[in-house]
Amino acid sequence: MKCSFCGREPDHENRVIPGLGAFICFDCVEQCHDIIGREKVDRNNAAAVEFSTLPTPREMKEHIDRYVIGQDDVKMGICVAAYNHYKRLYSRTLGDDDVEIEKSNVLMIGPTGTGKTLIAQTIAKILNVPFSIVDATIFTEAGYVGDDVENMLVRLLQAANYDAAKAEHGIIYIDEFDKISRKSANPSITRDVSGEGVQQAMLKILEGTVAGVPPKGGRKHPEQNLVQINTRDILFICGGAFEGLDKIIELRIGESRMGFNAEIKRKSQFKIGEILRKVEPDDLISYGLIPEIVGRLPIVMGLDQLDEDTLLRILTEPKNALTKQYQKLFAMENVQLIFQHDALKETVDIATRKKTGARGLRNVLETCLLPVMFDLPSREDIEKVTVTRETIMNKGPAVYEMKEEPDKKSA
Ligand code: ADP
Repeated sequence: MKCSFCGREPDHENRVIPGLGAFICFDCVEQCHDIIGREKVDRNNAAAVEFSTLPTPREMKEHIDRYVIGQDDVKMGICVAAYNHYKRLYSRTLGDDDVEIEKSNVLMIGPTGTGKTLIAQTIAKILNVPFSIVDATIFTEAGYVGDDVENMLVRLLQAANYDAAKAEHGIIYIDEFDKISRKSANPSITRDVSGEGVQQAMLKILEGTVAGVPPKGGRKHPEQNLVQINTRDILFICGGAFEGLDKIIELRIGESRMGFNAEIKRKSQFKIGEILRKVEPDDLISYGLIPEIVGRLPIVMGLDQLDEDTLLRILTEPKNALTKQYQKLFAMENVQLIFQHDALKETVDIATRKKTGARGLRNVLETCLLPVMFDLPSREDIEKVTVTRETIMNKGPAVYEMKEEPDKKSA
């Protein structure tokens, strides 16, 4: 009878414990205990390490500014929320529990294509923490929250390179958060049980729940060990269009104004972002979120609809602006790509008409540049491509400029 781990034979001080086809001696048990203890401390300290390198909110904002145009209030709000979140984790490692800092999950409300996902994504990139995006509709379609929580965490675990401690300090963006709202704000009239059930489950995730996550996901690998992940320290950023919420807010503001006999401002005078920024917890409850969920999302921010000037800036200014991306693709073929200002303005006009925010921009450019991108790799005579307003309007091709003939060059 030998210890299957260290190979030593037992003596009266170091005895062995038998298991199924294996033995372990007291010394090895103690060593294992130490290793597990150290691992737990490491897990807790992971946050502390991050804190020492945590950028200040101002530094974070400067970084986000390189990628996200406009939405200044939201960018500022998210930087402070993220900073406080990681500060909270750090305070816990100090063993200082007299004042428990509550988690600051964030809710972003704004029309589609205005940068909600991009902001969440960028903040995770700056902080160098694992990030994943889930769509709240996967919960509502199932009518309950079961496997989906695990799936949501699997992606985060993968983003963390299978490091559970890292995943537990990551960020999850829950898109289409408005879709979990109850159809009617008054539960006694129409009891929308499934909607509420999903919200109750969502509440647990936001507050903190432990889920056993199959690292490879799915049920295809039943043999794999589950990794336990606690959602307590994950920062949740929720986003949604919350269509119609502006009406609820306006009604509330309108009524109070009437009380003072003041002139009611016409709806169109407000920009949607300005209205959304006036949101109060009661408005969200009227919209159909349960009060507990609203309580778990202490930071609520409204995004602006992107106006034409902003869309034009989005086309050219961000570090990975669309025009820069296409120019890079063309440069790889040794071709210079030029967008005329009119062409960009036309792109913005078309995208604005589609009402899909900045999301429409890519689609417009992609459609127009498709024939060129098809043509270019099989040609070597082109030096420069100019995209004009006509190109964007599909009224004419992009303008090609040819390379000079080699013999002319030498002449
Ligand atoms: P949302 O989540 O609000 O629906 P996204 O963040 O997914 O919108 O934006 C869609 C696309 O539009 C992104 O790929 C991004 O490049 C671009 N975009 C949207 N808003 C902005 C912005 N304010 N600044 C720069 N790019 C933006």
